[in-house]
Amino acid sequence: MHDLFDIAGRTFLVTGATQGIGRSVAVALHRRGARVVAHGLHAADAAALARELGTDPVVADLSAPDAADRVAGQLSGLSALDGIVNNAGVEIPEPADLVPADVFAKSLTVNAHAPVALTLALLPQLRRAIAPSVVNVSSIHQDVPYPYRIAYGASKAALASATTTLAVQLAADGVRVNAIVPGAIETDINRHVLDEFGRAHFERKIPLGRIGRTDDLIGAVVFLLSGASEYVTGASLHVDGALRHHLVDYAAPAAATLAHDPRPGRKQ
Ligand code: NAD
Repeated sequence: MHDLFDIAGRTFLVTGATQGIGRSVAVALHRRGARVVAHGLHAADAAALARELGTDPVVADLSAPDAADRVAGQLSGLSALDGIVNNAGVEIPEPADLVPADVFAKSLTVNAHAPVALTLALLPQLRRAIAPSVVNVSSIHQDVPYPYRIAYGASKAALASATTTLAVQLAADGVRVNAIVPGAIETDINRHVLDEFGRAHFERKIPLGRIGRTDDLIGAVVFLLSGASEYVTGASLHVDGALRHHLVDYAAPAAATLAHDPRPGRKQ
């Protein structure tokens, strides 16, 4: 029987593949028989992973203005590309009363511009694939406020907008463009937040009752890269244990509830 989720023999680029979600996804695609080109920020890490995957590494700092062209240059030998997982991202903590311009610019460049620029720079190779698919890794903070990460949230909102626009813009080329939208997944990017607030705090807020693991994203990515999602484009697939629906902590101290008690005579 034909496996709807079969990706064997296809070639995918995964950005930020040397750690965290990117690494889990890259290794999982490789184990399913895909040829995975791993992009990394640092040459040594990218080379080590590429050896594991049996491919050549791609190295680029995606905050550089010419990053997409540099990646495209390194992939010029590739006749066709079946998909991109635009996973690389930065989350830069901000001081209480300031979002420095360079923090805002870097967040937008790496998290929003690079996925768009890479997709467009690699369009010739994507067009030559049979059913090309681009998966952008967004965040629930594209919609859900995240204090002191204004630039991060804005950049993921920009990525969400770019995902739907590219889906429409590239539909005639046969290129599908979707997003996965993770909640709290334990990786280097948020380990300090998990440590600061404590794991129990997050586990209480996540309706499915646990913090996500990097492997939790694999099914969503395989679905969006495979023929199983042939008629899906411009979609956002949340992988968050419903965290985005439950950021209010109803088990929180009574004072918080009383402050908003609408009954007459009660504290407003
Ligand atoms: P991570 O910090 O482990 O991985 C981030 C990756 O991006 C690394 O491989 C890093 O080298 C790469 N990267 C960062 N800046 C780069 C640059 N300038 N040029 C090239 N590569 C660069 O974190 P992660 O959690 O695995 O993050 C992967 C993606 O998932 C990110 O886009 C992040 O925003 C998103 N995300 C993560 C969570 C979570 O809870 N971990 C939640 C929502 C979204």
